[in-house]
Amino acid sequence: MKQRYQQQYSAYYSDCLVVCPECGKDAVVKNENNYKEALLECKHCNLRKTGYDMVAYKAIVKINCPVCAHPIRVERWVKEKLPNISVQCGECDADFNIKPKYEKYFNNYSRKEQGLKQDEVFGCPLYFQDDCKGNLFWAKNREHLLEMEAYVSAELRTLPYRMRMVERLPTFIKEAKNREAVLKILQKWKNSYK
Ligand SMILES: [Zn+2]
Ligand SMILES: [Zn+2]
Repeated sequence: MKQRYQQQYSAYYSDCLVVCPECGKDAVVKNENNYKEALLECKHCNLRKTGYDMVAYKAIVKINCPVCAHPIRVERWVKEKLPNISVQCGECDADFNIKPKYEKYFNNYSRKEQGLKQDEVFGCPLYFQDDCKGNLFWAKNREHLLEMEAYVSAELRTLPYRMRMVERLPTFIKEAKNREAVLKILQKWKNSYK
């Protein structure tokens, strides 16, 4: 009898396993779909960051000094939007409280040039990722990994009506010729994380 694939896990999308930006071990990102509730936690080095910690504002002032008309240009990083910031004229040294313009930024750990899959809020590389025959292969967490393993191992790939994860899988994972390579990587990931 052929082994039939059935979905067994549903939590794979909630938490995401990433490389801790501080210690390089496994850390967890919760609620990556909403930065207001997102949390990065590492049990190895006790790093703890919220999505709000990643937000910073650039306060920008561009005026001419009301006293001497010298141009005043200020750009300053702040954690919170304050109604006014204090600026000083570089020419006549007069001080002013000015309402700045604000630009919002996510100052996260993202290193786009690495070409790695990262979580959406903190920009940490996913813990499970590898090159699979020239394709970037990744799993969000252990449940997602096991789900893919169950799918790729199964010879009869019938989809229950609620089963949508495998439909979104990249083609290279589903191709029979890559089966062994994919399973080998999944096994390696399983061994790297107990
Ligand atoms: Zn850590
Ligand atoms: Zn001035």
